Amino acid sequence: SKELIDFINTVKFDTAGLVPAVVQDVENNEVLMVAWMNQESLRRTLESGQAWFYSRKRQALWLKGETSGNYQYVREVRLDCDGDTLLLKVDQVGVACHLGTRSCFSRLVGSSAPEKRTERIIADLYSLIKERQKTQPEGSYTVKLFQRGRGRIAQKVGEEAVEVVVAAMQDDHSELVEETADLIYHLLVLLVECGVSPEEIREKLAERRR
Ligand code: AMP
Ligand code: ZN
Ligand code: ZN
Ligand code: ZN
Repeated sequence: SKELIDFINTVKFDTAGLVPAVVQDVENNEVLMVAWMNQESLRRTLESGQAWFYSRKRQALWLKGETSGNYQYVREVRLDCDGDTLLLKVDQVGVACHLGTRSCFSRLVGSSAPEKRTERIIADLYSLIKERQKTQPEGSYTVKLFQRGRGRIAQKVGEEAVEVVVAAMQDDHSELVEETADLIYHLLVLLVECGVSPEEIREKLAERRR
């Protein structure tokens, strides 16, 4: 279509005819990967609604997910201020990285704000659990918990809470850390099972602080 051609013509491809595309999870804004696009892969992406890239190594067009099944359904395409970088907001099937992690950026090189990392733990764990529920990978303990049902998950939360209490009363620091981790994990599984988001909890807590 004309709009499609007009949009492609506003993109500033580099001298090799390529433009970097940042891929973001449409649901939680997680940055999933960065890959190159040429005119043809952008055209195919806009026409099909699935992410197509250009592999510099293989010098070929590449439909993301063609071999892995980890397709990306494109919900939004944006162009940055000076037109030389694309942003794709996608529904990611499975994982984005060919090494098996949800995001290609799961390797932390450095951070100047460790406290922020702590805050992210719950949100990150919650989305991982949701992902397990959706993709049901074999051998996953989380998947087994979901299969056993809400009653069993709730019971585990109760058991882990008791273990936290016992560790605290015995003043066993390392045991308390371990059991708290168990409790938070099982509680998040229960929240996913019941369809309660961490965002709702955050709002409730903020409401009480007023
Ligand atoms: P896929 O498109 O997921 O079926 O993967 C096909 C090939 O594309 C893989 O073997 C990798 O060479 C490459 N590939 C896929 N995903 C990524 C990624 N996130 N980053 C870099 N290379 C990738
Ligand atoms: Zn730019
Ligand atoms: Zn990767
Ligand atoms: Zn425990």
